[in-house]
Amino acid sequence: MKEDTHRALGQIVAQLKAHLRYQKGLGINTLLSQRKTSAPLTLEATRSAIGACTRCRLHEGRQNLVFGEGNPHAMLVFVGEAPGREEDLQGRPFVGQAGALLTRIIEAIDLTREEVYIANIVKCRPPQNRNPQPDEIRTCLPFLRKQLEAIRPTIICALGTFAAQTLLETEERISLLRGKFYAYQGAQLMPTYHPAFLLRNPQFKRDVWADMKMIREEYKKG
Ligand code: URA
Repeated sequence: MKEDTHRALGQIVAQLKAHLRYQKGLGINTLLSQRKTSAPLTLEATRSAIGACTRCRLHEGRQNLVFGEGNPHAMLVFVGEAPGREEDLQGRPFVGQAGALLTRIIEAIDLTREEVYIANIVKCRPPQNRNPQPDEIRTCLPFLRKQLEAIRPTIICALGTFAAQTLLETEERISLLRGKFYAYQGAQLMPTYHPAFLLRNPQFKRDVWADMKMIREEYKKG
């Protein structure tokens, strides 16, 4: 009996050694997994984690990092592309001309800016408002994800091609993506046209209104 126990223990030790060798081969040098199982960060903790960010080249030309603003418990989150000139100057999302239209869109579904949350895919203004580049998105997107984990909205509205394609990881055109809900991080995501696009192409306001009515119906379900 004693011998059996001894042999069994020997086997366990041998298996453990083999497992540790295998892990070492993968570059894992700690016994305890460092995978996160903790609760999501709060918005404040996410903002602190970003700090005075210099993770990508966009920090070079920015006046202010635009983290996002609104209700930390919002049921509805709007996600745009990147701060523009006015947003960069004020450090707040959607405060220029497109922002004024977004405010009207929000009010058209009987909500206020304070009741929703507004953020962008990237938090610093790209030079000359160019599209954010893939490495800039890769660097910044995890922070938007953390914001969404903290807020836990039921609905996300992706504003424009760029936000919709980035969040849904697709190259499909916004005209085909809009008008439908997609599952995203436990929320329902509705892509629609960007307010800046609507300023140049007001004939698409009708489509945005149709999308907003679907959002309003979903919102009412709670
Ligand atoms: N356009 C965006 O996509 N985001 C802003 O914050 C402002 C304009």
